[in-house]
Amino acid sequence: MDAGPAESPSPQPSRANGNINLGPSVNPNARPTDFDFLKIIGKGTYGKVLLAKRKSDGAFYAVKVLQKKSILKKKEQSHIMVERNVLLKNVQHPFLVGLHYSFQTPEKLYFVLDYVNGGELFFHLQRERRFLEPRARFYAAEVASAIGYLHSLNIIYRDLKPENILLDCQGHVVLTDFGLCKEGVEPEETTSTFCGTPEYLAPEVLRNEPYDRAVDWWCLGAVLYEMLHGLLEIKNHVFFSPINWDDLYHKRLTPPFNPNVAGPADLKHFDPEFTQEAVSKSIGCTPDTVASSSGASSAFLGFSYGPEDDDVLDC
Ligand code: AMP
Repeated sequence: MDAGPAESPSPQPSRANGNINLGPSVNPNARPTDFDFLKIIGKGTYGKVLLAKRKSDGAFYAVKVLQKKSILKKKEQSHIMVERNVLLKNVQHPFLVGLHYSFQTPEKLYFVLDYVNGGELFFHLQRERRFLEPRARFYAAEVASAIGYLHSLNIIYRDLKPENILLDCQGHVVLTDFGLCKEGVEPEETTSTFCGTPEYLAPEVLRNEPYDRAVDWWCLGAVLYEMLHGLLEIKNHVFFSPINWDDLYHKRLTPPFNPNVAGPADLKHFDPEFTQEAVSKSIGCTPDTVASSSGASSAFLGFSYGPEDDDVLDC
C-alpha cells in the first residue's frame, strides 16, 4: 500500500501552462529524444522506470517517467516535488540513488537517475528465502547509514521495505523511491500522515498516532527480521515441504479423502442429532416489518450482503 497521505508535504510546486516547476534540478535542454529507451525495469504508482541509453555518450541511466495526468488527478504534485528535493540531496550519500537531472514534456515528467542493476533486495530474498547473519547485517548497516543520513537532514523516509532497497553492480545497497518522504521534521517533532506499507508499519502509525523518525528504525527492524527469518515462516517449515502452495491454492492437489456425497440432499455426514430435529416455522417466514431502525435491527445495520453472481452449489 502506498496509502494516500492526508497532508500535503511542503513545498507546493508551482504550475503554469500544465508545467510543473521542477526547480534547480531541471535540465532545460534535455528531451526524451536524447535517449534510446531500451527496457522497462520497474513500475511505480504514477509511471514506469526504464533503462535508457543517452545517445550523445552511450551512458546508461534509469529514467523514471511519470504521467502528469495521474499525478494531478490524485493531487499528488507535492509528493513528486518532495521526491525531487530528496533525490537532489542524495548525491551526498553512497547508499541513496542519485538524480542526474529532470525534465518534462506537456504530458510527462522525467527523472534521470543512476542505473542500479543488482536487483531488488525483495527479488533476492524471495529467491533465497533468507540470508545468513553476516549478509543481513551488511545490508541492514548500509540501510541504517542511508536512513541516518536522511534523518540528519530532517527527512523521514517512511516506506522502507525490500522492494525499495536495490543492490548496485557491486552488491552495495541503493535506496530508491522517495515519494513518501516527509521533509522538515526536527528530531523530537512528530507528523501524522497515515502512509507506508502494511507489513512494515510501526505500531504508532497503525494506531493513527503522531509519530517521529523512529518509524524508520521500526521498518529497518522488520526488514532485518525478514532477511534473517524469511517472510513465510509457516509455509516454509520443513513439515510442509512436499506442499506446492500454488497448486494447493488452485485446488490442483487431489484431496486424500472423498466424502462421496450423492448430492445436496445427502446429509449422511451431519449428526442425526441435528438432522432429525424439526425445523422451526419462524425461520422461514417473513415478518411484516423487515427492517426497523430501532432495537435489535439497528444493531446490525449493514449486515445484509448480496454477491453479484449467486454462488451455485457444485455437488
Ligand atoms: P519506484 O517508482 O521508484 O518505486 O520504482 C519502481 C521500481 O523500479 C523499483 O522498485 C525498482 O525495481 C525499479 N527502479 C527504480 N529506480 C531504479 C534505478 N535507479 N535503477 C534501477 N531500477 C530502479
